[in-house]
Amino acid sequence: MKKSEKIEKFLSELETEIDVLNCVDCDNVESYDDVYNQINENQGFDIEIIYYYRAMEYLMENDNSLQESLELASEMGFDCESLSSETLASILASQNVRIEFDSLESEITDFFDNLEDDFECEVCGEEYETEEEAENCCKDE
Ligand SMILES: [Zn+2]
Repeated sequence: MKKSEKIEKFLSELETEIDVLNCVDCDNVESYDDVYNQINENQGFDIEIIYYYRAMEYLMENDNSLQESLELASEMGFDCESLSSETLASILASQNVRIEFDSLESEITDFFDNLEDDFECEVCGEEYETEEEAENCCKDE
């Protein structure tokens, strides 16, 4: 498997709600920061919670007192009068998904540290660590 294919497989199996593959160009990531920045640029961390009841449910479960979400909203410059439960829930959910993704940092860093191309024999498909080995695999047949 090529590096980009390994990256795609790895990212698709990450435990996160983010649609990582939709945000990340597997040919152009080499580190956790690359992945994080591409998700960020493609609004992958922006979770939108719509419908009043879903917003209320999310807030009740995650921020009963509304303290955290109100604080975040004010840091982001939201005007209290323009805040709805949907906005608050979305702000909080977006923050939580970032925290959740941060917790995958060491797993993702380990993956990139150990990432190398494999070389496939063009005849039988067997995988090798070097191109030379792959080329010699079915040479005599
Ligand atoms: Zn072969």
